[in-house]
Amino acid sequence: MLKEYEISGEKVFLIRNFVEVRIPKGHYEKLIRRHPKEYIISLAEPRRVLSHVTKRNLVFVTKESGIPLLGHAAFGLIDRGTNLIQVRPVTGCNLNCIFCSVDEGRESKTRVTDYVVEPDYLAAELAELAAFKGKGVEAHIDGQGEPLIYPYMEELLSAISEIKEIDVVSIQTNGVVLNEEKIEMLEKYVTRINLSISTLNAEKAEKLYGVRYPLEKVMENARMIAESKMDLLIAPVWVPGFNDEEMERIIQFALDIGAGKRHPPLGIQKYIPYKTGRKLKKVISFRDFYATLKKWEEEYGVKLVLNPKDFGMGKRERYPSPIRKGEVYRSRILAEGRMRGEMIAAVKGRAVTVLTNKGIGEGVKFRIIRDKDGIYLAEEL
Ligand code: SF4
Repeated sequence: MLKEYEISGEKVFLIRNFVEVRIPKGHYEKLIRRHPKEYIISLAEPRRVLSHVTKRNLVFVTKESGIPLLGHAAFGLIDRGTNLIQVRPVTGCNLNCIFCSVDEGRESKTRVTDYVVEPDYLAAELAELAAFKGKGVEAHIDGQGEPLIYPYMEELLSAISEIKEIDVVSIQTNGVVLNEEKIEMLEKYVTRINLSISTLNAEKAEKLYGVRYPLEKVMENARMIAESKMDLLIAPVWVPGFNDEEMERIIQFALDIGAGKRHPPLGIQKYIPYKTGRKLKKVISFRDFYATLKKWEEEYGVKLVLNPKDFGMGKRERYPSPIRKGEVYRSRILAEGRMRGEMIAAVKGRAVTVLTNKGIGEGVKFRIIRDKDGIYLAEEL
């Protein structure tokens, strides 16, 4: 649970292989003569708290932090008006995919802050949202990054299992940190794993994922999930010019290992360049994409053009939003934002990303310029 070491003049405490607390060595040596280690880890200043995965500053989102769990795209909860609630406990990724829509991983040029949400806080807010939605809710654990780096996953899943409106728990993963023990743990709580595998070729994997990638291990993890009680959806991203011929190999692999016991076994995604994601030159049209999927559907006898209904998803009333585009508020900056020039404030129980250069604790006046899906962006006035 706790490791400690020294690096570059800093004393480092590594908690749950995820949170790095770094204290200047000279300062730590003075403190340790007077205080217990637990006190120093929690309260010593100056100190830096970093994600061990990305080495970026890490913000702990707790009830006491005052940061709401509705309103931000990177952490907390997202309700897009269906029976599926996106649950985002952590940001940051162990891969650096060349096609990443959120420019994640250690090489990210745009993401400067990571977040980790306290599991009881997340589960309590989820319970409230699920109660509003009613029966038949799916909790889908995903995020801007790899959800399974979350150091409190079992605590979170256990708390979610107590929420009576939730009858499906699904989780998104690139599969790299999975192993037999973790799969056994997940099997106790999770209904379906969406596993992204975009190539079965080791050389292509290094190009696509931007890091050394344990292909055999991920394939073995896929087999173990398929043999477990959980359902498995294999979700490759088709990146034109990089893995065109891999799609059919992946379809065959998914069929061979028995993915999709209750739902379709494959969810092939089209690479789409996003404004704040990684951009590649070659993009195929939706028309060609769906025409090719239809052709493969016939060849392999498997459903590839998917509909949310295939997974039991349907429309549900949205949790009411107390904030509207165009409204003006004043609030205090609570934390650093996900990208440069962004900070987080709270308004009426919602987290708002404010475009500002002000610092934590300062007051700021802003206008809401985006409110889609209950995710709020504001510009300083
Ligand atoms: S695994 Fe997903 S979040 Fe991580 S870098 Fe790749 S695309 Fe981005």
